[in-house]
Amino acid sequence: MSDTPKLNNAPYYIKEDVCIGCGTCESVCPNSAVSINADSGSGAYKIDADKCKDCDACVEQCPVTAIWELESNKTE
Ligand code: SF4
Ligand code: SF4
Repeated sequence: MSDTPKLNNAPYYIKEDVCIGCGTCESVCPNSAVSINADSGSGAYKIDADKCKDCDACVEQCPVTAIWELESNKTE
């Protein structure tokens, strides 16, 4: 894993088909940005991009690597 500098304004999203609904991300998020995705029907969670402060806590704790950075927010 390279030491890529963190990008500003780069919220994350949860891959529905990977998330196992364990709730860890919700419990570690300091900004209450994570909640169950009621639309998914699979028990997956989702991240509210407006609340996400890009702290990385959920990304580090997710046991199945379901949380990814939004590609559209990356600046080259
Ligand atoms: S990156 Fe931080 S603020 Fe954003 S959803 Fe994950 S735990 Fe919450
Ligand atoms: S920690 Fe990962 S697997 Fe668990 S609910 Fe969050 S995104 Fe889904």
